[in-house]
Amino acid sequence: MGENQAKELLRQIPGVDAVLQMDAVRDALSRHPRRIVLDAIREELEAARKRILQRAQPHFVLKLDELAHSVAQRADRLAAFTLLPVINATGIVIHTNLGRSLLPEEALARLHTICAGYNNLEYDLQKGERGSRYVHAESILRELTGSEAALVVNNNAGAVFLALNTLAAGREVVVSRGQLVEIGGSFRIPDVMSSSGAILKEVGTTNRTHLSDYVSAITERTAMLMKVHTSNYRIVGFTREVSLEELAALGRERGLPVVEDLGSGCFIDLAPFGLRGETTVRRTLRAGADLVTFSGDKLLGGPQAGIMVGRRELIEKCRKNPITRALRVDKMTLAVLETTLRLYRDERQALEKIPTLRMIALSPEQLNRSACELAAALQHADRKSVLRIEVRPGFSQVGGGSLPAQDLPTSVVAVRSSLISANRIEEFLRRNDPPIIGRIESDHFIMDVRTLIARQTEIIAAAFGRMVESLQK
Ligand SMILES: *Cc1c(COP(=O)(O)O)cnc(C)c1O
Repeated sequence: MGENQAKELLRQIPGVDAVLQMDAVRDALSRHPRRIVLDAIREELEAARKRILQRAQPHFVLKLDELAHSVAQRADRLAAFTLLPVINATGIVIHTNLGRSLLPEEALARLHTICAGYNNLEYDLQKGERGSRYVHAESILRELTGSEAALVVNNNAGAVFLALNTLAAGREVVVSRGQLVEIGGSFRIPDVMSSSGAILKEVGTTNRTHLSDYVSAITERTAMLMKVHTSNYRIVGFTREVSLEELAALGRERGLPVVEDLGSGCFIDLAPFGLRGETTVRRTLRAGADLVTFSGDKLLGGPQAGIMVGRRELIEKCRKNPITRALRVDKMTLAVLETTLRLYRDERQALEKIPTLRMIALSPEQLNRSACELAAALQHADRKSVLRIEVRPGFSQVGGGSLPAQDLPTSVVAVRSSLISANRIEEFLRRNDPPIIGRIESDHFIMDVRTLIARQTEIIAAAFGRMVESLQK
């Protein structure tokens, strides 16, 4: 492209007002605020100018209807939500990247009831005076766990931080080397410890820690004995960890609080569903922990929250720490948490109504039936018969750093095609509205039905139908 040609093209670029009159742009104006459409126009005109000046395409012609169309598309992108519902076909129940636990219907209804109007978040209705937000989930937590007191903060990382900062700032916390965990998203026990002001005192070795290791680490600088649930990994082979009972006895003898970060915080025994080794909060307290911290949105199946239960005196100290204000929970969390917790009053009801538990408890027969239904719907959507669709046995994960190496048997639907690679299937579905997230395994696109919810089979089939239509046979 010569310089004169470029100049001529630059002259052809319409002004903002002219673009505003174009049909596709007027359509965009009926959908979006004017400011967004104007931004889209400026960005598109700037892009056109750049393309001409770079002279990358020698036969570049400015097509006005294409420009209008690009403006409309850009306006749609600028105006779009960024937080979107997605379909989780990974089978990972507590998928941290996909929002962890789905909330029970009852909790969502309660969220509306509480948050559509005013509420007594910090108002004591008995006394007619200012109250505390921290009372709201406390009584149900005490009832369900048998603890003396409870405190709810923003998330479990916050609860661990608060416990360390309140009870051990400037002093030492004894932790086994085998428990210095890193959870996804850069939560590392040693880092949380140092930012809380507590001093980490590691004891034992990676694979073996003995009670004597704790005993010899205790000095006048020691503030706390801490145990951390090795949520997302397992040390196997020649191993030894000190039991909570032993540690609690040592803590009592030396007058030191014993704190356990449970991570997931389960309220019911999951052994009947093939998941071993996940203790309950109640059992942890009974085994002698003075303070237990756990998440609201992992196995508990509620909202993001950090829950602390245990001895009243320790919880009161945490509550009075000014940092609690920076970690405080909001009314939405409390409304959802209280409702979710109340479902645990009846274990059968909890398993039925809390999606996280319901998904974990699905039977192999139910899963196989759902997988066959999905496969049949895909078969039906494959009008050109270009997909190979099969139902296979597979494994789902609980996820959320809970129960590592304990996969749940499931049924998956595997899809492949000679016309489109598994990578391109994955990409097509990920860009669907709503996005469908599956995984690739040896050149098959795999969907695990465990984490699908009502009517998603139809949405997935429709997306596959569109994908098949777009393929050239
Ligand atoms: C998940 C986890 C945390 C962090 O909990 P969040 O609620 O995500 O902040 C802390 N400790 C352990 C052991 C965990 O598994």
